[in-house]
Amino acid sequence: MEKTGTVYLVGAGPGDPELLTLRAARLLQSASLIVHDGLVDPAILAMARPDATLISVAKKRSKHTLPQDQINGLLVREARAGRDVVRLKGGDPFVFGRGGEEMEDCYAAGVPVEVVPGISAANGAAAAAQIALTHRDSASIVSFVAGQCKGLKDQNWVGLAGPNRTLVIYMGVKTAPQIAEKLMEDGLTPDMPVAIIENAARPEMRVLRGPLAALPDLVEREEIVSPALIVIGEVTARANEAVAYVAMEAAR
Ligand code: SAH
Repeated sequence: MEKTGTVYLVGAGPGDPELLTLRAARLLQSASLIVHDGLVDPAILAMARPDATLISVAKKRSKHTLPQDQINGLLVREARAGRDVVRLKGGDPFVFGRGGEEMEDCYAAGVPVEVVPGISAANGAAAAAQIALTHRDSASIVSFVAGQCKGLKDQNWVGLAGPNRTLVIYMGVKTAPQIAEKLMEDGLTPDMPVAIIENAARPEMRVLRGPLAALPDLVEREEIVSPALIVIGEVTARANEAVAYVAMEAAR
């Protein structure tokens, strides 16, 4: 019987190949089979061996090309057939990356797993936009939330955003109006500074800033597309002006 292969859950970071870990780069360059999602930048995929097999399991918000259980099944099947699999994910595999589900299914099937962390979008975007997520004068708490999830309205975000704290919202572009409304219902003032970082750590990056009340308009008017992060908190007002590529008008 074939020796079981290993599944490597590898974080590819936010886009710039320079932001890969050495471990990720080495695995990528030696892998014969790479299963990647849609967020992985083409410049990173270009680092694979010319004879490597690349399988895309890209997920779009409303269109799953491959359901999660089939992705898990693919990883398990290939590993059981004796192949090492590099499962490449945008950012970090364990931050909104479903890495936990894939790991559990692999272990349930007796397939060994190694996890290689990546720079999550929050860290990559903060660096690229020069927004310090914590700052002794502005924020001593940081939270990461998913802005597009089951029952967004019923999710309890109370206390995650406000003075002295930073809230980073993944997957929040489509639901920006509900997010702004929810946060203001929870007591945030309409003038709380926010930033949107679109395509962080990629050549086409845009950084937009303004008050919370104007967030939905900004997303619509500037036609913000995925991937983008929304950051809520005073730290966004301290960002380096030079990287706020598109300034935002005052609140309504
Ligand atoms: N595992 C990933 C997150 C996957 S969820 C990580 O750790 O970063 C997908 C969401 O991540 C996107 O909807 C977007 O909100 C965010 N994202 C990923 N890459 C990004 C990038 N380059 N710029 C801005 N946001 C990004």
